This record gives sequence, structure tokens and C-alpha cells, in this order.
Amino acid sequence: MNGQKVNYQRELDRVLEQLAAAGGGDKAPRLLLHSCCGPCSSYVMEYLREYFRLTVFYYNPNITEEAEYRKRLEEEKRLIRAYNEQVRTGNFAGMHSTERAGTIDILEAPYDPQVWREAVRGMEDLPEGGARCAVCFRLRLLKTAREAVRGGYDYFTTTLTISPLKDAQRLNAIGMACARQTGAVWLPGDFKKRNGYRRSVELSQAFCLYRQDYCGCEFSREERESKRNRV
Ligand code: SF4
Repeated sequence: MNGQKVNYQRELDRVLEQLAAAGGGDKAPRLLLHSCCGPCSSYVMEYLREYFRLTVFYYNPNITEEAEYRKRLEEEKRLIRAYNEQVRTGNFAGMHSTERAGTIDILEAPYDPQVWREAVRGMEDLPEGGARCAVCFRLRLLKTAREAVRGGYDYFTTTLTISPLKDAQRLNAIGMACARQTGAVWLPGDFKKRNGYRRSVELSQAFCLYRQDYCGCEFSREERESKRNRV
């Protein structure tokens, strides 16, 4: 690749063009979508439910406290219920959706912060965006890939690339490595492109979603607090 950045939105476009001919509804492929929270998934679900039968996979052992973990999970479920109600009633007011949009399922993994702690041991002091995050991404994407194989999904991917703070090159490389390791099929993406992040903010406001101001682990929370105290 000669150090050149890949446009993973274009890579996704290519896959979607191939799928468009196959039609939607029952024929649409099944996608296991790893999601970190409702706000990040809001745009991704709005976008991808047009092309896939979506199951959201909530696996986030990186979230520092169980109360915070449950709060994000409940918001995710509330948003999915609202989206499914739109499909049921055919009322897509305010959405960028068509009648092709399908309903969405959710699959929850047990909350297991110990697994995450062990994975990042020795990396506690590294800044957000460094090697600790790569390990954290890999932990979550490998579990998603294994679940995709177990459940017979056609593809797996993650909402994480929507964040302007998260490197899509790195996330896609990790996703592809997890695919090679497990036999699952990675769906490339960079959901911050095409104003995806901005749309997620709009949707979060429209659905009154709880939006946390830190990534998830206690170190990201401390980093955010110390930045706030400096201003
Ligand atoms: S900052 Fe976010 S991605 Fe990085 S280790 Fe913490 S929870 Fe994981």
C-alpha cells in the first residue's frame, strides 16, 4: 500500500454496489455490527439497515463501570426499538431511510471487564489513541468476528470508525486481521466520512440519547477530566 491511506468509505461503496443487485428484504445479507453505544450506532444503523439484516453486537468490556456500561446498553436498546417502530409503521419522518430499511436485532455479550484489564495490563499510562487502544479494538473485534462465524453472519464490522478520534486505517487493518484469523468476512468502512459523525450528533439530539464525553475506560475518563480541568 506504500503508506498510502485507503479510503474505506469507497471500499464500502464497492461492496454495497455489488449487493444492490441482490435486492433487500429477506435476501439481504446478515451483518453483525459491533457497537460501542447508541450515539455512534445511530447513523451507522440508519445507513446500513438499507442493505443488511442487522444484528447489533454489544460487547464492550472496556467500559469502566457497570452502571455506565448498562446506561449505554439501555440507550442502544431504546434506539433500536425506536428504529424498529419506524419500520413497523412505515413512518420514517426525519430519517434518511427508505422502505428497504429492515428491523434490527441486538445481541448482548456478558459484561466482563476483567478480560479487558488483563489485555491492556502494562499499558495503563499510554495516551488515548496509542497501543492500548489497538489492543482494546482487537479484543472487541476478534470477539465480534468469532460471534459472526458462530452465528453464520455474512459480514461483521464496527461503529468505531465514526469517531473523529479513531483511526479508520488502524481499525480496518485490525478488522481484516480478525477476519483472516477466524474466517469471518470484514465489511470495510469509515463512518465518519460523508458527514457521518455530524449525522450521529443530529440523530442523538433527535432521539435524546445519552452521549458520554469519554471513550469508555477509566484512563480515557481521567484523561478527559484532566483536559477539562486545564481549561
Ligand atoms: S481510550 Fe477507548 S479505545 Fe482506548 S483503551 Fe480506552 S476504551 Fe479502549
